[in-house]
Amino acid sequence: MTKKVLIVGEVRDGELRNVSLEAIAAGKTVADGGEVVGVLLGENVNPLVNSLLYYGADRVVAVNHADLKSYTTDAYQQALLQVIESENPDGLILGHTALGKDVSPRLAMKLNAGLISDAVAIGKDGEEIVFTRPIYSGKAFEKKKVKEGIVFATIRPNNIPSLEKDETRTGEITYLTVELKDLRTVIKDVVRKATGGVDLSEAKVIVAGGRGVKNKEGFKSLQDLADVLGGAIGASRGACDADYCDYSLQIGQTGKVVTPDLYFAIGISGAIQHLAGMSNSKVIVAINKDPEAPIFEVADYGIVGDLFEVVPILTEELKSALN
Ligand code: FAD
Repeated sequence: MTKKVLIVGEVRDGELRNVSLEAIAAGKTVADGGEVVGVLLGENVNPLVNSLLYYGADRVVAVNHADLKSYTTDAYQQALLQVIESENPDGLILGHTALGKDVSPRLAMKLNAGLISDAVAIGKDGEEIVFTRPIYSGKAFEKKKVKEGIVFATIRPNNIPSLEKDETRTGEITYLTVELKDLRTVIKDVVRKATGGVDLSEAKVIVAGGRGVKNKEGFKSLQDLADVLGGAIGASRGACDADYCDYSLQIGQTGKVVTPDLYFAIGISGAIQHLAGMSNSKVIVAINKDPEAPIFEVADYGIVGDLFEVVPILTEELKSALN
């Protein structure tokens, strides 16, 4: 049965996040030939509405409001509830990002809806939509269906491919005015940590270092490798605890969960808590001087050796191969 599905577009630094484009593709599966409506919230989202159409949205609802400039739980929850009330959708999809993780359970509670969080794939079982999501820190996967009510899910970035961009696509744009009341939080300023150019959770290539990298200086050679591949730097908690890098780079159970196409684990032993954040990466390359390190159990390619010798050689080889 065809459905109307809302997908929430996320804006960062004036640009749409990739996961929003992936949400459109997910929305198409859920809509099953029905309508996918992109929702954009911000201070001035008008320049971005066409991008949602180009990537497959049939229609866009744009909500401009000064209090939506930066994400706050109160303002986004209120605005999204008003969009949902005006659109009355059968499905709702957000990225499994900091924003999605924060606002989705609140919306689910208000809508009395079931929420399937962190889906990595969407398929069909007859008429029913089936979501696949990792459990036990990525060691197994479960399949879940929404039996009744709104089909509500968050999707993990980098797992559901977005549709091809088509700049000839057009669609209706609705500008919705929302009323935001009794906001308990006001963002005065956003100070971003300088952690490199590529967003870790959406990066296609991640070069992650562990305690084996030894110091901050060691991370510079990892940065060279990441630069050659257009990747982002990540880290184990061991490296963060040792103050070799910022905690915002931590990957794992208590850090970020990532699914890049290519993950380098360099000087990382492969503790279960680290694997929880990266073991679903598509290709894993481990560099470690200990042949017994558990990271080799999940690696597709392993290099046993001293990272201070291996990483510069690898960087130079890749540089000449890619130039
Ligand atoms: P180590 O375990 O010390 O490993 C360093 C590795 O570097 C070793 O394998 C060594 O052989 C190798 N090495 C050393 N020198 C070289 C060299 N010159 N060349 C090549 N290899 C070298 N950890 C996370 O990463 N993320 C989390 O989110 C996380 N959450 C946690 C939550 C809880 C509740 C707990 C209890 C722990 C958590 N941890 C987490 C910590 C985790 O258990 C490990 O302690 C941590 O991952 C170890 O980091 P590491 O692999 O960098 O260090």
